[in-house]
Amino acid sequence: MTSRPRRYFVETWGCQMNELDSQRLGGQLMRQGLLPTQRPEEADVILLNSCSVREKAEQKVFSRIGEYRLLKGGKPDLLIGLCGCVAQQEGERALERMAGLDFVLGPARVGELVEVVERRRRGERVVAIGFPEERHYEIDLLARESEFKGMVTVIEGCDKRCTFCIVPSTRGPEICRPLADIVAEVRHLVDHGFAEIELLGQTVNHWRDPRDSTLDFADLLDRIAALPGVRRLRFVTSYPRDFTPRMIEQLRRHGNICDYLHLPVQSGSDSVLRRMGRGYGAGDYERLAADLRAARSTVALSTDLIVGFPGETDADFQATLELVERVRFAAIFAFCYSERPGTAAIRLGGAIPSEVAKERLQVLLRLQNRIQAEINAGFVGRELEVLVTGWGRDRTTLAGRTSCHRIVHFPAGDRPAPLGSFQRCRILRALPHSLLGESAGEPEIPAGPRFEAGEGVGGSREPSRSSPLRVLASAR
Ligand code: SF4
Repeated sequence: MTSRPRRYFVETWGCQMNELDSQRLGGQLMRQGLLPTQRPEEADVILLNSCSVREKAEQKVFSRIGEYRLLKGGKPDLLIGLCGCVAQQEGERALERMAGLDFVLGPARVGELVEVVERRRRGERVVAIGFPEERHYEIDLLARESEFKGMVTVIEGCDKRCTFCIVPSTRGPEICRPLADIVAEVRHLVDHGFAEIELLGQTVNHWRDPRDSTLDFADLLDRIAALPGVRRLRFVTSYPRDFTPRMIEQLRRHGNICDYLHLPVQSGSDSVLRRMGRGYGAGDYERLAADLRAARSTVALSTDLIVGFPGETDADFQATLELVERVRFAAIFAFCYSERPGTAAIRLGGAIPSEVAKERLQVLLRLQNRIQAEINAGFVGRELEVLVTGWGRDRTTLAGRTSCHRIVHFPAGDRPAPLGSFQRCRILRALPHSLLGESAGEPEIPAGPRFEAGEGVGGSREPSRSSPLRVLASAR
């Protein structure tokens, strides 16, 4: 009799750091012989990799635990683990609150999953949170979700104290990885055919080499962009105040640094920015945006914005609208302010009624939709290079990403371009959130290794679920 393969299911909320952590969690379980599944009812281990940046996401994860624990009725050995920022924030309380929860694993303890699972199998309900000084990055122990984009942690945690933000307490103080380790991981990814590298950190451009403090993020960009096989290089999330002229210079030097930067501004009002503790004014931000565009005229900027921050007046909100109008972001991620436990903003007073905040959000989104439509319309008639990442819904079209992070759909034709290849696309039509085009052949620079299978264009901010993955083979 053949036994059923054991399976794991991961649901991920939040930022790219969480996405990568989910890949690290999955990789450890695959090494133990478990296979991924997209169906929680098939799983022997369910992991919820949570986000606590907004209250809504936090509530969602607890309601999801409530749903999944019902599965234990037919499968008493099923393990359910809470991971990510809510795990760090709630710790022991999460176990008290949720009877069906087996363990709690904070973001800095991701590498301890196997040990925690074993302890649970022996009967202990484990809480593994906190911030060990040593972190281990097993570069060959990741279940990479994309076959084309390889994410690489360069800095973890955050030492800033933006008054609205819970991240410093859930992800801990900054820890930078040594340059040599990052280079080794990028080489490993390139050797395995990853054409696009994304460097990750909560404040990625605050990176410094812990072994040589003269080396900063400009040096890191310079080194990684120059590595053979790095066809595209992205990095996220940049902190405006930490950008230096030397970093901007790298955009001029290296054409493979993508035409896209996520640069959270949070507000267009100086007084709100001051109360947020951001350390820059709206004018500083606009000068930085202008410097970036002077270095690379085609660079697309996206941003995060909070509306309804305590004390935000109509005039403050108007300043945000005006900044958005002037900077012309390619995309914004805008949210109503959400009070987070332990943050300084709670003590500020001047709470904005939720209906006012919601109305402001709608006004802001309408403005951005108009700007985005205008920017997208400007692509019609141009040729853009696209990394082919998946099939369209009906399997007659392919989808890919431009260097500026736009999604392009184009007919697959009789001889579909291989997934993972680069194609030139002539843009025929602009939609609000994507572009429609036609193939204009292969670009001049030969693409890296290609793949026969794989799907999805990624980049969604919705919770993502574990999918059939491949684990990288051992490094060397
Ligand atoms: S820089 Fe500010 S917003 Fe970003 S993670 Fe750190 S504290 Fe949070």
